[in-house]
Amino acid sequence: MDPKSGKKFLAGGPSSPAVASAGGAGRGTPADWCDLSHVWLPYAQMKTVAAPLPVKATRGSRIVLSDGRELIDGIASWWTACHGYNHPYIAEAVKRQIDIMPHVMFGGLVHEGALTLAWRLAALLPGLDRVFFSDSGSVAVEVAMKMAVQYWLNKGVRGRTKFVAFRGAYHGDTTGAMAVSDPEEGMHRVFGSLLPRHFVRDLPSDDDRAAELDRLVAAHVEEIAGIIVEPLVQGAGGMRFHDADTLRRLRRLADSHQVLLIFDEIFTGFGRTGTMFASGGAGVVPDIVTLSKALTAGTLPFAATLARKEVFDAFWSDEPSHALMHGPTYMANALACAAANASLDLFEREPRLAEVAAIAQALRAGLAPCSDMPNVRDVRVMGAIGVVELEGIDDIEALRRRFVARGVFVRPFGTTVYLTPAFTISPDELATLIDAVVEVVGTMGTS
Ligand code: PLP
Repeated sequence: MDPKSGKKFLAGGPSSPAVASAGGAGRGTPADWCDLSHVWLPYAQMKTVAAPLPVKATRGSRIVLSDGRELIDGIASWWTACHGYNHPYIAEAVKRQIDIMPHVMFGGLVHEGALTLAWRLAALLPGLDRVFFSDSGSVAVEVAMKMAVQYWLNKGVRGRTKFVAFRGAYHGDTTGAMAVSDPEEGMHRVFGSLLPRHFVRDLPSDDDRAAELDRLVAAHVEEIAGIIVEPLVQGAGGMRFHDADTLRRLRRLADSHQVLLIFDEIFTGFGRTGTMFASGGAGVVPDIVTLSKALTAGTLPFAATLARKEVFDAFWSDEPSHALMHGPTYMANALACAAANASLDLFEREPRLAEVAAIAQALRAGLAPCSDMPNVRDVRVMGAIGVVELEGIDDIEALRRRFVARGVFVRPFGTTVYLTPAFTISPDELATLIDAVVEVVGTMGTS
């Protein structure tokens, strides 16, 4: 129900009576903005999807619903809003920019915001010094894959079009990105054999697995362009953690067989795991890195793919066909660059990584009681990521509703209940989130 109007959300199919009555006049403006009859929601079976919560505003770590209720946000809008919502410093930068120049094409033209941001990102990721901007995480991954394949073509090596990727991985929803995500457990199973085939294996989390992977790469090296991994945390695939040694093994493997190593830091970038980037924390420099999500701190869609000089050099040529033929219309959007530069200012001026460390400590202490609960398989924390993995969830929508009833927005998926709050969340708000998880998980099956 829409709590304000008392009307049921309208999510039915084209022939549904609910839709027929929506707005009264077919294609006219719906009388109630909560009418869902013309929208297609993400990751949702539209016939049975639970009514989404109508939001009228956000601020700090709060989501304000249209009926005035406020929820403390445990997700930071898919891990983007690292400084909290509506940070005044970022808002000011974007407002200033919109009067000067909201957007200008990046073909034949450049602007200060983009060049400054490229310079700053390169400085933050030593070894990666060329930045290609795009507009979403999935596209940043497509660009990374395209760079890796063309790197070999430009060097005169044909046939290297495949990637080594990992079980539990998620790299996005576009075709290339889907193909390097986990084919079995992932959400793209339905496409099955229609996707290009890559080598999807277990992460080399021990020496045996590393040796197995080594044999695979040795046997197929002439087909392999690169290895792609989410460093330290596989996010949407289940919030699974691995250690820096795993990344070091991958670096060694890539070096010994001379394939490229891609780190997808779209989730882990900008402080989430406790250091500014997971690669820096692990002390491993990949050949290509993808960034998005917290790049604009939850303000505007934006992404970047960074490459090492050696990768870029393979494109530096008198031969026109050696150019990277990619250029999204909204590439290097000036508003997004303003938000990203302002976000980096905040990381420089405010103690974000110390806040992440404090959040990690609170998550560790606060979620610890879940370890003893009968339906809990694992409790783990890394940086500002707290995960309670359950044996199973029977009714995920009921679980989600129980969190809302406690005044928090937590969105379990698969077998996982997790918290990834804004780094600026107050200790009280964080305690409320943690208490809600402990209470809801502790009473699962009892209400
Ligand atoms: N890569 C990783 C690691 C992600 O977590 C995501 C999104 O969750 C993506 C890529 C895709 O990003 P987007 O949803 O912006 O396309």
